[in-house]
Amino acid sequence: MRIIFLGPPGAGKGTQAGLLQERQGLTHVSTGEMFREALANGSPLGAEAKRYMDAGELVPDKVVIGMVKERLGQPDCAAGCVLDGFPRTVPQAEALAREVEIDLVIDLRCDLAAVASRLEGRRVHLPSGRIYHVDSKPPRVEGQDDETGEALIVREDDRPETVARRLKVYEEQTAALLGHYQSAGTPPVASIDGMHEVETVSAAIVAAIEEVKKNA
Ligand code: AMP
Repeated sequence: MRIIFLGPPGAGKGTQAGLLQERQGLTHVSTGEMFREALANGSPLGAEAKRYMDAGELVPDKVVIGMVKERLGQPDCAAGCVLDGFPRTVPQAEALAREVEIDLVIDLRCDLAAVASRLEGRRVHLPSGRIYHVDSKPPRVEGQDDETGEALIVREDDRPETVARRLKVYEEQTAALLGHYQSAGTPPVASIDGMHEVETVSAAIVAAIEEVKKNA
């Protein structure tokens, strides 16, 4: 089973993809996470991506597509994966379609006015990618990861000035992907209200996956 998540930054794609990895054994592939890791490891890819990420812009298609192709070829993706943050442009979607078959597109709908506060309250444990929120999902000890006790960070691009640009980039370059998949007719698109509680959204996603399995 291969799943794509669509939806604006802050819709809960990372949280939900993480749950699918934990509970359904699907490998969570987050392109944003891959860039942050590359940066933390001091690789040239990380340094190149940082220029775009800090400005709230998209990393060029060629760079992202090459990275995802390589990632999808790794053994842990063979049994199934959830793509979180990819594709973000129509050329990325076209490149992906040439590479692998996608079984389901999840369109995580979210009020754009609400996502800004979600992003600004977000805290991340960088090594694991675990995501918290100061109000809706606080860690047990403020500023510390529940599992390791290590420090949580505020992503550079979750600062208010960059959030506004990311939402604009989403509207200009990524929102069109929904129409792209809807008009293609396949893979099926499940639109899910991402404004509910995490577990409610998760149950709706699992139901959409079950539906695809039933029709397979
Ligand atoms: P995310 O963690 O998905 O919010 O991604 C963080 C940042 O990484 C984005 O704002 C982009 O700068 C970059 N990025 C992640 N995925 C992509 C992608 N598919 N295409 C272009 N840039 C990306």
